[in-house]
Amino acid sequence: MNTLIDTLRNTVGAAHVLTHDDPATDLSAWEQDWRKRSQGQALAVVRPGNTAEVAAVVRACAAAGTSIVPQGGNTGLVVGSVPDGSGTQVVLSLTRLNAVRAIDTANLTMTVEAGCILQSLQETAEKAGFLFPLSLAAEGSCTIGGNLGTNAGGTQVVRYGNTRDLCLGLEVVTAQGEVWHGLSGLRKDNTGYDLRDLFIGSEGTLGVITAATMKLYPFPAAQLTAWAAVPSLDAAVALLGLAHQHLGAGLTGFEVMGQFALSLVDRHFPQLRVPLWSEHPYCVLLENSDNESEAHARTQFERLLEAALEQGVVTDAVVAESLGQANQLWHIRESIPLAQAEEGLNIKHDISIPVSSIPSFCAATDALLQSEIPGVRLVNFGHLGDGNLHYNVQAPASGVYAGDPQAFLREQEDRVNTLVFEQVKRFEGSISAEHGVGSLKADKLPHYKDPVALALMRQIKQALDPQNLMNPGRVLL
Ligand SMILES: Cc1cc2nc3c(=O)[nH]c(=O)nc-3n(C[C@H](O)[C@H](O)[C@H](O)COP(=O)(O)OP(=O)(O)OC[C@H]3O[C@@H](n4cnc5c(N)ncnc54)[C@H](O)[C@@H]3O)c2cc1C
Repeated sequence: MNTLIDTLRNTVGAAHVLTHDDPATDLSAWEQDWRKRSQGQALAVVRPGNTAEVAAVVRACAAAGTSIVPQGGNTGLVVGSVPDGSGTQVVLSLTRLNAVRAIDTANLTMTVEAGCILQSLQETAEKAGFLFPLSLAAEGSCTIGGNLGTNAGGTQVVRYGNTRDLCLGLEVVTAQGEVWHGLSGLRKDNTGYDLRDLFIGSEGTLGVITAATMKLYPFPAAQLTAWAAVPSLDAAVALLGLAHQHLGAGLTGFEVMGQFALSLVDRHFPQLRVPLWSEHPYCVLLENSDNESEAHARTQFERLLEAALEQGVVTDAVVAESLGQANQLWHIRESIPLAQAEEGLNIKHDISIPVSSIPSFCAATDALLQSEIPGVRLVNFGHLGDGNLHYNVQAPASGVYAGDPQAFLREQEDRVNTLVFEQVKRFEGSISAEHGVGSLKADKLPHYKDPVALALMRQIKQALDPQNLMNPGRVLL
């Protein structure tokens, strides 16, 4: 093994190969996942500085039969970016590949390296006068390589799509250590199989993304945010239909938040002053991005809300008067996971259901969970605009689990997951809308994925990574 470590040191420089041999080196930032569900042990953490070095590292690991875990910001939520506990895997950290290689304003693209932090790319685009619309709460830490690896979603999918929809080309180091130069900025290219789409969302199991050409958009002249109380989920879906009709492509955000989810924010972060939550079962956060002017955006919003109030799909609403107020409203939405954590451990789901079926899915699944575990509390919120719910389950406030959420997780997590996932299957949804499969859900795929699709995925993995060295045990077991 020392020969491999020596080769890696010669390849990327000794300072960029971290091992446990030096007791003063703390590798936990690379070995523990964000949710603290898994603490692995790496043979080494290797931090190459360019694509040629990544390729050389992959070739050296392939020759030694050593598996590789590609890692960006390590913010993934499904235990996909940390090593297992064997002490035999190399963590390949991409964070030193952080250059913006080019901005092509006429082509509306930027070509960036995999380790660029998402927020820095938003800022780079803005400085050049453009919008890079990928946005998620982890944007200060996650990398574009990780976003591509997981096909991340976020808050603007209703308008701009997932990371996949924002990407035109990739540069990838294959499992054999070859470089695929696919950094095309083309919007049309029908010359065979789409390799780009194959690597996006593959969670590091097929190759290492080293750079990407991403789409840019004109910066909107105005962005307005509204907070609306709705009497039911059916009404929230009806409001979404009206919003599409009135705002067209201007609709860039549509988030739903259940009353219990907002009550947790109110309890744990009272300074955020959550509006309208106490008397309404759901609230919706809407964003209108307008290419004309703020006045135009406001008029559009007023017309939408008037129509919604008339039809009874909205019972009360506020429109943010300033950017500061809009940010406060988004901050409330983004604080739900933190408020949940303050309340205690909970069982998290990241599911998608066709938007039209969301009200009946929630009614049926809420009732099922209540009948199985009386008093269970549902923290229901998410990106309703694209059919993605974070349908989380918190222990009952009283009874055997009161004050002991660990016991709730230990004893009920598998059962709750099965109940929820069976419902997802019944309603033709997905058990992982945006976070991916990683290790956490890999054992679930054989049950919830179409068997022909799964067999094709296995064949693709075998063809591209016959030694099974790229992030083994993730996605496919
Ligand atoms: C607070 C918070 C909020 C979040 N919100 C959202 C959200 O709204 N929407 C959403 O979709 N996700 C969300 N996530 C999870 C999301 O998957 C990540 O934040 C992000 O996409 C991962 O980027 P990363 O650089 O941290 O990747 P990592 O966590 O390092 O890696 C994630 C996966 O991608 C692989 N990978 C990483 N880099 C590469 C590469 N260069 N080439 C090939 N494979 C690679 C890894 O092996 C791993 O399987 C959130 C996470 C947190 C902590």
